[in-house]
Amino acid sequence: MRFYSLEDVPNPRNSAYYTDERKWGLPGVHCPVCHAIWSTAADDYPSVDLSHLPSREQEKYSARCEDDYAEFERLREQVRPLVPPGVHLWPGSGFGPLTGPARGIFGPLTLAHPWRLLMQREPLERLRAEGLRGLKGCRTQLRFRKKNPPELLEMELLPRGRLHPDCLPADRPAPCPKCERKGWTRPPASELILDGATLPQDLDLFRLEDFLTTIIGTERFVDAVRRLGYELDLSFRELPVRGS
Ligand SMILES: [Zn+2]
Repeated sequence: MRFYSLEDVPNPRNSAYYTDERKWGLPGVHCPVCHAIWSTAADDYPSVDLSHLPSREQEKYSARCEDDYAEFERLREQVRPLVPPGVHLWPGSGFGPLTGPARGIFGPLTLAHPWRLLMQREPLERLRAEGLRGLKGCRTQLRFRKKNPPELLEMELLPRGRLHPDCLPADRPAPCPKCERKGWTRPPASELILDGATLPQDLDLFRLEDFLTTIIGTERFVDAVRRLGYELDLSFRELPVRGS
């Protein structure tokens, strides 16, 4: 099986735009050990619903920085039973639907941000009918000014699979023992190698668990998208796979 990273294109044909606002999310942290103030961009679970929590508690799941690390951990563990097993939950993890303003023309598949894939309903259903695995579309609440806005679904992508150590910097420092922040960045896409031993066998679309902004599709996914004519504003880069 071949694997591809999903990438945006420099001059998209459509003009999709939307903001990052989301209903709920873990706050960022100020780590008491490494002193970094940080959060992630791509650890999002749009199917997770926190509306059962009291409103004062829901307000804590917002885009802000939590200086009390123990309080961050409490908020994280309160959500853990609601997210898929094995998910890490980093600072800034998002929950619930996208809610911000949106404008422009959306194609069948939209990768306006390289770490977030939106689909219109019909393309999603046709790709599902192809037998692709792991296509979980979640309703968005993006706000359009125009009448008859498109029905956009955000793909909930599980973090699975890792990069092979051969493509990572040899002198990379160990993660922070408290917040586990890496403190170094992913190599450029042209240098990525996947670790074959870590790749999922049961998903055709996922994100890398060690670099959440990287969305990976299998050959089956890419073939179906191309055959159905949905490869408009995204491109695919085949990544080498190395056994470990
Ligand atoms: Zn830290």
